[in-house]
Amino acid sequence: MQVSGTTKILGIIGNPVGHSLSPIMHNAAIAAMGLNYIYVPFPVEIQELATAIKGLEAIASVSGFNLTIPHKQEIMPLLNEITDVARAVGAVNTVKRGDRGWIGTNTDVHGFLVPLQVMERDWQHLPAIILGSGGAAKAAVAGCFELGCPVVHVIGRDELKLKEFHLTMTRQLRVHGLRVHTWSQLDNLLPLAGLVINTTPIGMGTDSSSPVNSQQLGLMPKGAIAYDLIYTPRPTKFLQLAQALGLTPLDGLTMLLHQGAIALEFWTGHPAPISVMAEALGL
Ligand code: NAP
Repeated sequence: MQVSGTTKILGIIGNPVGHSLSPIMHNAAIAAMGLNYIYVPFPVEIQELATAIKGLEAIASVSGFNLTIPHKQEIMPLLNEITDVARAVGAVNTVKRGDRGWIGTNTDVHGFLVPLQVMERDWQHLPAIILGSGGAAKAAVAGCFELGCPVVHVIGRDELKLKEFHLTMTRQLRVHGLRVHTWSQLDNLLPLAGLVINTTPIGMGTDSSSPVNSQQLGLMPKGAIAYDLIYTPRPTKFLQLAQALGLTPLDGLTMLLHQGAIALEFWTGHPAPISVMAEALGL
């Protein structure tokens, strides 16, 4: 890749961001598309987000960026326009520079759904459990209702935050089946769930712990899916435990691929080379 005086800059803003495979995936795609772009990591602390966005705004060659943990909700008041899908979900993971400033959207819901939609399941009869109540959890809630799950249980650690989550998501998505609980309720919910999704950072990078233990996973019905949105390491402890118990494990790499493909199309206006991106991720 040749960086020149007219190269446009894309990137990912997060903390931590060192584990992210987005730069490898996007730079492979950019090279295959023959575009004069580069995609770089931007490590930004939560309290520095507004300063970072102001700085990026002043650099005319910055065309857009992704957001990851912990910025997907905090970015929203800093944007000039938000797409309907991001407004409904209440989280933004992709931003591009428009004529009148930053435009934010959400490509996580699409990415989250792709690997589930190819699985043969009677979703209308399968309650889902989502561990965590941050930005990715919001995309997962929207995705589970889109699949047809009748009830979606969200597990969090802060009762006040959970109440707010329930209120806003029920209103934004216009759904009736959303329930929120603290972690102490998890064991009562697992025996009926067809799908448990980890949207917390527990087990990411060098953290070798799991958000649920083997005994808890053992409560789930046969054939249930354990979906970890984390993709580094592969597999996470959570998915190792799930596999050992005969559950269906699914990691976050396919989600990363498909949310990234839609993001690249949003920035460049060109179709993304999905097979090149998959190969760069080792899929
Ligand atoms: P986020 O908005 O910061 O949300 C993280 C959530 O996890 C919050 O609800 C937080 O609870 C909870 N949490 C954090 N540490 C916890 C702990 N020790 N115990 C219990 N709960 C804890 O982050 P995010 O953007 O949603 O990302 C979450 C994860 O999903 C990250 O690992 C990210 O890499 C992954 N992800 C993957 C993809 C993909 O394409 N595969 C896409 C999106 C996200 P509090 O609210 O109480 O702090």
